Amino acid sequence: MAPLPGSGLAKGLAVTLRTMTRKTVTEQYPDAQPELAPRTRGVIGLFEENCTVCMLCARECPDWCIYIDSHKETVPPAAPGGRERSRNVLDRFAIDFSLCMYCGICIEVCPFDALFWSPEFEYAETDIHELTHERDKLREWMWTVPAPPALDPAAEEPKEIAAARKSAEKLAAAARAESAESAEPPAVGPGASGTGTAGPGASGTGTSGPGAPRPGAAGDGSEGGPA
Ligand code: SF4
Ligand code: SF4
Repeated sequence: MAPLPGSGLAKGLAVTLRTMTRKTVTEQYPDAQPELAPRTRGVIGLFEENCTVCMLCARECPDWCIYIDSHKETVPPAAPGGRERSRNVLDRFAIDFSLCMYCGICIEVCPFDALFWSPEFEYAETDIHELTHERDKLREWMWTVPAPPALDPAAEEPKEIAAARKSAEKLAAAARAESAESAEPPAVGPGASGTGTAGPGASGTGTSGPGAPRPGAAGDGSEGGPA
């Protein structure tokens, strides 16, 4: 059946009216900054203090677009008689973002938490060669990395936090035991005689300390520790 004359126009007007009443999705970038999702993959930031130059990220990158140079340095022994150790020192860390496909493998495999996603995305260049960014720029981007989201209260305690908590509890218990020991009266010395004497050579009743009576210390000799 042939369509009624003017039905196409009516359909078009209906679409226009429906769209006019909907909320607009257009973002007025660059006048207004877009609201990005917290886990946006904008660019990669490098926290070079954590980097041990293990080269894992460069080896695992499917695009081979991470360039790392380093040299070895000898570290003197920590204690006299110890052995000298050698460590890697980072000379260059660069990522070619014209090749990077933002897969995130380098960030996943880094065993030392040196690489992070930053939501920064305004680094377009007119020359493709300028998309290779060196460590200074990667470090600058590090400061734009958002803080990690809060843990789910029902989640299992992270291994690192559990280990740190156990060590802190052990240290606190050792400190308590030490202070309890120092609060105890001093041990009775060999050759001591009489009631309530303490310390080598002390005699009589109600004296305390090594060999010399202390003013005010008298009685049954129960006092032996700090006043
Ligand atoms: S995100 Fe993927 S492609 Fe880009 S540097 Fe990392 S591993 Fe390579
Ligand atoms: S994997 Fe991490 S620690 Fe190893 S070289 Fe890459 S950034 Fe540095």
